[in-house]
Amino acid sequence: MTRMQGIAASNGIAIGPAFLYRVELPDIPVRSDADPTEELERFEQSVDAVRTHLESIKERKRGQMHADNFEILDVQKELLSDEEYGDKIRTLIQHQGRNAEAAVQEVTEAVVTEFSMLEDEYFRQRAADVADLGNRLIRNLMEIADVDLGDLTEPVVLLAHDLSPSDTIGFELDKVAAMCTEAGSSTSHTAIVARSIGIPAVVGVGTIDVREGATIILDGNEGVAIADPDDATLAEYHERKTRDEKRREELLAKAAAPAITADDVHIHCVANVGSVDSARTAAEYGADGIGLLRSEFLYLERPRLPDEEEQYTAFSQIADCLPDTTVVVRTLDVGGDKSVPSIRMPKEENPFLGHRAIRLTLEEPDLFEPQIRALLRTAADRDVRIMLPFVSTLTELRTAREKIGTIHASMTAQGTAVCDRPKIGIMIEIPSAAVIADAFAREADFFSIGTNDLCQYTMAADRTNEKVAELANFLDPAVLFLIKRSIDAAQNAGIPVAMCGEMAGSVIATPLLLGMGLREFSMSPSQLPEIKDAVRRLAVEDCRPLVDTCLQCATASDVRDILQDFLDSR
Ligand code: PEP
Ligand code: MG
Repeated sequence: MTRMQGIAASNGIAIGPAFLYRVELPDIPVRSDADPTEELERFEQSVDAVRTHLESIKERKRGQMHADNFEILDVQKELLSDEEYGDKIRTLIQHQGRNAEAAVQEVTEAVVTEFSMLEDEYFRQRAADVADLGNRLIRNLMEIADVDLGDLTEPVVLLAHDLSPSDTIGFELDKVAAMCTEAGSSTSHTAIVARSIGIPAVVGVGTIDVREGATIILDGNEGVAIADPDDATLAEYHERKTRDEKRREELLAKAAAPAITADDVHIHCVANVGSVDSARTAAEYGADGIGLLRSEFLYLERPRLPDEEEQYTAFSQIADCLPDTTVVVRTLDVGGDKSVPSIRMPKEENPFLGHRAIRLTLEEPDLFEPQIRALLRTAADRDVRIMLPFVSTLTELRTAREKIGTIHASMTAQGTAVCDRPKIGIMIEIPSAAVIADAFAREADFFSIGTNDLCQYTMAADRTNEKVAELANFLDPAVLFLIKRSIDAAQNAGIPVAMCGEMAGSVIATPLLLGMGLREFSMSPSQLPEIKDAVRRLAVEDCRPLVDTCLQCATASDVRDILQDFLDSR
């Protein structure tokens, strides 16, 4: 029995066989004295195997994938037959004694660099496909299994180093009972995906040394994963799982009712979504609207940017899952922990502090305009609002407002049906925005506090690095100070303020946020029933004194103790 302690990232308990998903390639051996005949044969065999594999993915996914995803598969198949690519690899093998995997890597890297520098947008976008293809060939040569969740017959506990948005989009998620990663924190992508589909997850467990198929208990409530449990442990967890599921069912039965505190304050519990499916789940879990639509999902795993029409259709479909509610759509937030294949971001020394999100989109009309046009059209007959990510200066908000105004005016002049006046709000997720929240509140139509990034930047602690996860804590008094400042600024200016970071879905923080005056909580759909239940058991009046007490604390753990005692006493 092996016990791994990590970070509880998504509630629930699952028990199932281990499925090892390794996206990271190990170090590739480089030789200059390999036998050319042998290596050439290995290379040709891997080309055949990868071609067959691509065909089988295509066959299986027919009818389920967007046409562009097929295009990626087709492009990769074409490349496999491309003489120039293949011949360069063969030359390295034949004339320089290179082993096949090293030759593939060398040539792939060169082609990726070449494509990335081309003027033509289409070819620039192909670079990611080439990189992915090279990866497939190398995996095959090194006998590292290509992930094929589609072949599984029972749901598995997926174990990986870490998962990116493009990894998870290809997964057949009904085959995944739970996720566990070596890296990551409670705000990393794995955690967000697991919560949004409502499966348990534990992240940041450190090295996973487990054999394929081993029985895994995954306790997302306590942040524990147990491999090869003994009989007694297994029996105990089966019992816990049954109890946990029963409680969830009870909460779900009450989820559609509004969340009204014991002293009669209506709290809006809305959802963070990233696809049409998750918007449907949000409706099932009792969401009062959508507080954060992460528009990145439209850009994942596809070679070309989505056009206006496609975005309009997707936004409308999502908004229509929750009719007559408010839907807040965040403009494209790429960079840092979020990358998409159709946008080649030049390598930066420090991408988390780099040219990303609003900094990038304001300079790229091809990214900004179609998205805004689609949003203004969706808002013509719905309450759809535009939210800008990663705003650090007033100039960014002003520039965005001006550009949106120009687009709005030209669409109106053309007779396109758009909303009367676009509502433009900002994420408060960079400390500078929280510090001058008063100034922002005079110009923004609403705020939404993004605690995931606010913690990361306030505490200088990478949200994807499990070693500093403890530091990036939303209960840290420094973070609480900025949250309170932002809520106060919005209230003084009379604009709505919500929170869409993971703190909003954590029961431990609910009384404190109610006390600070927060009235809109946006979270992963699976967290809604529990937060609504917590709100109903609390009275805002009782929560208010917590604010000063917590702000005067020296550490996050002191704050946690106070809040836990308060919740236990209810
Ligand atoms: C945040 O930063 O808190 C947030 C909600 O956005 P994301 O997690 O997508 O960065
Ligand atoms: Mg963010």
